Amino acid sequence: PERNADLRALIRTIPDFPKPGIAFRDITTLLLSPAGVATCIERMAAAVDGPVDLVAGIEARGFLFAAALAVPLRAGVLLIRKDGKLPGATIAEDYALEYGQDRIAIHADALVPGARVLLVDDLIATGGTARAALRLLRKAGGVVTQAQFVVDLPDLGGADRLRDDGITVHALVD
Ligand code: 5GP
Repeated sequence: PERNADLRALIRTIPDFPKPGIAFRDITTLLLSPAGVATCIERMAAAVDGPVDLVAGIEARGFLFAAALAVPLRAGVLLIRKDGKLPGATIAEDYALEYGQDRIAIHADALVPGARVLLVDDLIATGGTARAALRLLRKAGGVVTQAQFVVDLPDLGGADRLRDDGITVHALVD
């Protein structure tokens, strides 16, 4: 497929989802486009800095991009899941939501200490999710220096917070 798709044009905005006043950036339309998928993965792969042992994707949309990106990088895929889904022994990390909190987990033995991990998700907004993922990966001994997103919502400040945590942040669309 063509590798020059207009990614911004392939992302649709759904007003008032999941609640009134929120404009949800819907990437399912991008995924339906062969050129969109190829463009996405090619550009993400090109932006990777140095060798990577594992691509860590955040449930659920992050899995798609992490898995596809792992192929050209010749890396493994590490699943960062909502708590309670992984069958083996886990380590978990809590993070604040607008109302309440949530918890993500990885298998305790998923990482060999020193493994170079690229963090991937579809979108970064406040950065709460990605920063919890970063704490988790670092707690497990991972060396995390870079993160990639299809979409960054810069007004919400998450990418800047992640940069303050020492991460090189790359997004395809602002
Ligand atoms: P944050 O924790 O940075 O505030 O929110 C990012 C997380 O919530 C990501 O895992 C992302 O999938 C999801 N998310 C929040 N807002 C949106 C949105 O508008 N579109 C999409 N596709 N995901 C969102």
